[in-house]
Amino acid sequence: MKKRKLTALTALVLAVLMLSGCARIPDFIDGLPLPGFFREVLEGLPFWGGDDIVLTPPPAVTSAPTAEIKADPTPTPNASDYPAIEDPGKPLEPFTLQDAVRADLSYEDMVFTAPDADRTNRSIRALLAQFEEAQSAAQQVEIIREIDRITSEDANMVTLANLQFSIDTTNPEYKEHQEICQAYNAAISDAVNEFYLAILNSRYFDELEAYFGETVIDFLRRSTQSYDPAISALQPEIDALVDSYSTYCTEHSGDEIPLGGNKSNTFSESEMLGQLRFYGDDPDMAYINKLVEQSLEGFYSETYTEKNDIFTKLVNLRNEQARIAGYDSYPEYAIAVGSDSYTYEDIRNLISTVRAEFVPIMKSLRESGAEHLGEKLTSANYYLAICPAIYATDDPDLTEEEQLEAAIGMLNRTSGRAKEMTSYMQEHGLFQVFSSPTKEEGAYTTYFNGYKEPFIFAHDPDTFTLVHEMGHALNYFLTPEPDMGERFSIGTEIAEVHSMAMEMLCVKFYPEYYGDSAKAAEAYQVFNALYTILDQTLFSEFEITLYENPDLGPEGRAELYSRLQEEYGLASPGNRYLNDGRSWTSIHHFYSAPIYVQDYTLAQSVALEIWEIGRDDWDAALKAYDDFLYDQEELVFSRRLEHAGLSDPLKAGTLQDLAARLGAYFSSEDYTGHYAAGKKAYDEMMSD
Ligand SMILES: [Zn+2]
Repeated sequence: MKKRKLTALTALVLAVLMLSGCARIPDFIDGLPLPGFFREVLEGLPFWGGDDIVLTPPPAVTSAPTAEIKADPTPTPNASDYPAIEDPGKPLEPFTLQDAVRADLSYEDMVFTAPDADRTNRSIRALLAQFEEAQSAAQQVEIIREIDRITSEDANMVTLANLQFSIDTTNPEYKEHQEICQAYNAAISDAVNEFYLAILNSRYFDELEAYFGETVIDFLRRSTQSYDPAISALQPEIDALVDSYSTYCTEHSGDEIPLGGNKSNTFSESEMLGQLRFYGDDPDMAYINKLVEQSLEGFYSETYTEKNDIFTKLVNLRNEQARIAGYDSYPEYAIAVGSDSYTYEDIRNLISTVRAEFVPIMKSLRESGAEHLGEKLTSANYYLAICPAIYATDDPDLTEEEQLEAAIGMLNRTSGRAKEMTSYMQEHGLFQVFSSPTKEEGAYTTYFNGYKEPFIFAHDPDTFTLVHEMGHALNYFLTPEPDMGERFSIGTEIAEVHSMAMEMLCVKFYPEYYGDSAKAAEAYQVFNALYTILDQTLFSEFEITLYENPDLGPEGRAELYSRLQEEYGLASPGNRYLNDGRSWTSIHHFYSAPIYVQDYTLAQSVALEIWEIGRDDWDAALKAYDDFLYDQEELVFSRRLEHAGLSDPLKAGTLQDLAARLGAYFSSEDYTGHYAAGKKAYDEMMSD
């Protein structure tokens, strides 16, 4: 295990100035420890750049694929193409949970065939004609299964196209495939809506409702009530804007900013922000700092405007979708249509509760941190003050292969099913997690609905990002064989418990991973959790405000973001460039996945409870996790929590109690005990 050393940037800036060479400054941020986002906060970059599950499941899923439909080059399906159902009197048996039938297909053997929307539309409509004629609920369920099978075959291709593009963003063919799939999704939405309506209007509706259950039927109802072809007609434009944002980010990800206009002296944005963070207050550095500020200003004025323009168009289009559906603004629409677990009012209350209960913890960490250090807070000592464990954690020096191995090793010890999953994924090439210059940033987990195979994509992840993603993958892997994909389609607030709580369960293995600094790593992880609750809630409030005030404009948005950072206790002291309110444009989710960050706040609070249980009794924590994970048919967050014996963050008192316990933890020796080691490591770093 190697002691982490951060490289003092200034010395290098000076050296480079003198040599006027193009020596690369080591990315000192890479030396910082542990999971996820805090490192990116330090870089002045967004946290959770792309980490996540893929959010919008395709409309339906089914069993292992057959080539039946695609093999036929001249498709004109009609009702008579499908076998008549032989026994109309057959009773409708209750649905039984069975393991998914996996395709046993390796990633490298998957071949992209463009999904044909016309053909799928004709197939669905032909089957719906049969559905009308069906003589029993059992017959209708068979037809539902068939429609599900067809759409999930197409969904395999949509997933494959998205993945291939993530793996090589420079390949024009992949980009074209992705565009084909976006058009496909828009083109089948009418037929999918007709499919849902057919179920809701079925003459056997009572039996179908009893068979699928209330939550699934509610989902169909919400979808159809808000459905309007005019809404989906706007979607391709939205998708294209999100793509143009991604492309812009990829093209500019390696941007080098000339220092003071000198093209032979260039630095990345994070290097320049690092200079201001660590040396912004140093009077000897005034000249360089000024050059850095001017250079950053020029860079921001261009990129910020560009990214704002894209965002403005997205806000207007999404608000337009909401208006068509009869809502005042997009956030209300998105929550009403998207969640069966909470309402818009619930999220408003969540924001107020976090402001009232969790913000004071962060504010008191700032105060007590400064006291512990006996220093005034500066941009340089700020993170040491609020989280000494970040400096007191020794990060093991592992290769990418070793990191994957470590993550798999931890996961395998949580259950036999987890082990089965990691073996399956390894055997089938379903981990594409090593760095590549052509890859998209970030990490996510997705699922081949038809093949029943989870897939983890990542670029330059750390061990615990992989653990997080494997929590998602495990949920997918355990998803039973569906009759209709909607039966197991969960909200992100549930999905993120699978991943965030898995990270918390793996705290048990820290001593093997971090050695002597395991306790510091745990403290850092808990701090991360607090930070997540705060900054995701900030994002939530920010985002809702932007959609509800579409005319705010770039400067108004920056002012709002900066003010919220201050109010949430997340503003960095010192140089204004560290906190100027423009960094939100680097956060991909604001563009690609609006109005769902509240799910991180909700899931994180559950993950914290699982960590708390595990401190006393790890087996009990694992049991609560498993009870939650295996409750696959329960789609409502509050009920799933109840079944697993976990507290519901949307229920009055839960977050208040959690905040009180966390407050006690942060003032206990378990947390404050790291100031000495943290300060020592920090001083070493600064004197390097
Ligand atoms: Zn996630």
